[in-house]
Amino acid sequence: MKYAMSYLVIFAVVLVLLNTYPVAASQDLLFTSKRDSLKSQTAVMASALMELESLSADQVARVMNMLDSMGLTRILVTDPAGLVLYDSNRPAADEPAEGEEPPPPEYRYALYQEVVSALRGSDVFYSRYNDRVFTSTAAMPIVYRGMVIGSIYILEIDSAQGELLFSLQQNLRNISLVIAAVTLVMSAFFSKMLTTRIAALLRAIRIVGEGEYGHRLQPVGRDELAQLAGEFNHLTDRLQTTEEVRRRFVSDASHELKTPLASIRLLADSILQTDEMDPAMVRDFVTDIGSEAERLTRITEHLLSLTKLDSLPAGEQLPVDVSQVLERTVALLQPVADASRVTVERELRPDCVILCTEDDLFQISFNLVENAIKYNYPGGRVFVSVYRDRDQVLLEVGDTGVGIPEEDLPKVFNRFYRVDKARSRAAGGTGLGLSIVRDTIRRHGGWVTARPRSPEGSLFTAGFPRYVPEERGKGETE
Ligand code: ADP
Repeated sequence: MKYAMSYLVIFAVVLVLLNTYPVAASQDLLFTSKRDSLKSQTAVMASALMELESLSADQVARVMNMLDSMGLTRILVTDPAGLVLYDSNRPAADEPAEGEEPPPPEYRYALYQEVVSALRGSDVFYSRYNDRVFTSTAAMPIVYRGMVIGSIYILEIDSAQGELLFSLQQNLRNISLVIAAVTLVMSAFFSKMLTTRIAALLRAIRIVGEGEYGHRLQPVGRDELAQLAGEFNHLTDRLQTTEEVRRRFVSDASHELKTPLASIRLLADSILQTDEMDPAMVRDFVTDIGSEAERLTRITEHLLSLTKLDSLPAGEQLPVDVSQVLERTVALLQPVADASRVTVERELRPDCVILCTEDDLFQISFNLVENAIKYNYPGGRVFVSVYRDRDQVLLEVGDTGVGIPEEDLPKVFNRFYRVDKARSRAAGGTGLGLSIVRDTIRRHGGWVTARPRSPEGSLFTAGFPRYVPEERGKGETE
């Protein structure tokens, strides 16, 4: 409605101008031309009459009969007192017949405003347009040797030009009506088209807002509204994916939390319901309750880490030497490796610096090396290496352990995904370690892959953009 109204207001202004300006301008033009022509006509007549020196009705009639009245409606000539000497509307009386008395002279005074002004010495012109007719009058004094000896007054009633002006007005009005009708129809049509599309977009936004994430728009054409529809679909796609991930995450997380809680409940009930339970058994049960509680703690800690990765910005990134962090990780996990009778071999090159936070890098390497030990056989080996490859720093953690089946490889980074649930549980796993690794690495602009290692075991490779200090970077050839 607003669109249509603004167009209509603009058109209305244009139409009003179209209907007034040309008519007013042509009326002005006609007034000017009338003034010029009437003035020059009065001037011609006045100069002809001036020749007479003093005016008498007969002489004036003679002179006037010689002059062409040029379409004038009325011509009056008066003496200085305003007495009419000649009136073109009154034909001269016929010559009186033989022996007849001549008719008595008629004394008429022309007391028009124009005549009065002319007798006072001024030229007067007056014209008006009314009822398709131009009525114009002009008056002028007849001056002989500086003396006003009379005045001449002319009147023109012109309906031909009046008609012309009227038909111009009429034509403009008709054209305006047609334009107005077309504008009205077109603006209603375009506004309708536009509002229909905007309404569809609004409806779609409302539907998606109510949770129907599968709803999509059909973009029509290639204008801004179609682009808007495309962007809306794109946004809804992302919303749908996020929503699915969130739902899956919540259901997986509650499932993971439910299992240890159920065990705790069961163990506690058993203790409560069994009379005179063997104290050693009670101790065993309570120990189990303790380890289940520990598992709950681990899961919640991991969940918190993931939430932080999702919502908090990365901490301040500083240059960190990857080899040094790996050295520390391996040293920390050495007792675990010893307990599982796993040997950790390392090949850590110097000068492998990346931009990261030390805590994040530690968490990444700890999870990878811990998994390599956890999912290994007694007597197995773990290989940790850090080296530079062009503009990247690569971190590899390989093992001779149980390995990961080909079909599970793409899924091991998913939240709560475990290849062997029983083994993971037994090893105190939560199924979240690798997804924390992947999210943390991505946060620092890196990538991570998992693949089988020949002849056995698996190999995890993480790559980070290498940090090159400004002043050293220029001189380096590597
Ligand atoms: P978990 O807490 O269960 O270890 P992760 O996210 O760290 O969870 O790992 C997901 C799953 O990937 C593990 O349950 C395990 O089945 C498999 N996995 C991880 N690392 C290795 C590895 N080095 N060797 C074999 N399997 C592994």
